[in-house]
Amino acid sequence: MLANYGYKDGSGEYFITIDTEKCNGCGACIEPCPEHCFQIGSDENDPLRDEPVAAVVPGQRQKLKYLCMPCKPAGRAVNKLPCEEACTPGAISHSWYHVLQR
Ligand code: SF4
Ligand code: SF4
Repeated sequence: MLANYGYKDGSGEYFITIDTEKCNGCGACIEPCPEHCFQIGSDENDPLRDEPVAAVVPGQRQKLKYLCMPCKPAGRAVNKLPCEEACTPGAISHSWYHVLQR
């Protein structure tokens, strides 16, 4: 399933989506994120799942617009975000970009 973490406000929608079908719980997204946005643990959306899965740290979910801003500099093209780059299964996506990357 697609697990969405974030919020929307008057300026836009700021969600990180984890595709839990693709996520294998490897933890490779944790170290490259300068804002410690990811954690690995049991699936809060699927109590029957035994395998660990990534989620956005609860305390960071309401601050993503600001936390991710240094990775998404306005006016400068970014090929891939550090978290996306680290996730070889391609489980991480963001709902917003200051500069369109794709
Ligand atoms: S790097 Fe990707 S596959 Fe690994 S735990 Fe993070 S989201 Fe899941
Ligand atoms: S964009 Fe940067 S700060 Fe935001 S989750 Fe990815 S690595 Fe972390």
